[in-house]
Amino acid sequence: MTLFVLLAFTGCYRPTPYPEIVGVPKSLMSETRIVGRSVEHRPIECLVLGEGKDVTLILATIHGNEPAGTPLVQNLREHLQRYPRLLQGRRVVLLPVANPDGLAHNRRHNARGIDLNRNFATANRINSPTSGYRALSEPEARVIEQLIRQYAPDRIVSIHQPLACIDYDGPAQLLAQRCAQHCNLPVKKLGARPGSLGSYAGLRLGIPIITLELPGRASRLNRQSLWQRYGAVLIAAIVYPDSVTLIEGFKKHFLN
Ligand SMILES: [Zn+2]
Repeated sequence: MTLFVLLAFTGCYRPTPYPEIVGVPKSLMSETRIVGRSVEHRPIECLVLGEGKDVTLILATIHGNEPAGTPLVQNLREHLQRYPRLLQGRRVVLLPVANPDGLAHNRRHNARGIDLNRNFATANRINSPTSGYRALSEPEARVIEQLIRQYAPDRIVSIHQPLACIDYDGPAQLLAQRCAQHCNLPVKKLGARPGSLGSYAGLRLGIPIITLELPGRASRLNRQSLWQRYGAVLIAAIVYPDSVTLIEGFKKHFLN
């Protein structure tokens, strides 16, 4: 009690928006798992948090020169581990770097020059030197497809740059609108690109998917600034369609 009064007096104490559980249950802890290898044999890492039925898949940096989503996902992992109540009834699958070779070389495509976000099996698919001569020709795209098969996500968030908007495919208009309430990015329908993950998951499989297009300048923000601006979008997607009050608590305590 004395400590509480002292912290409150000095301004160091801030009530948390969700009860913080000391000693996170083992089932909520995430083990980093290598789920595949890139063309240049870099590990592709996946983290799974929670054991609930409602599943959200969040992936970043499928385009290697759009890296801002990766620290955002890393911050999300820490937040979920700190506030595991968000994971009750939920499971969150994180792919922080979907294109590790592209990230290492600071380029959009993978090491074979293929745009992974054009490499999926879709009705509008075009075979070409940059989209691959067949669907899922690239190991990195196969990892994503395998995760979708394995976890059957209820919704997907794919983080890109630099178009500064929230795009969506499939039955995700309401999800996109909800997420847009928690950042300064407008909802924009950019259209289903041939062979894209949005076309595959959203249109072919009917899984709501949003493309969180961060602005280009997001790459220059530090992790904390990124989290303050866009963390609530990811939380909103995870708890969708529930728990607006939790999100409001998040905004009140973390974003102001
Ligand atoms: Zn992109």
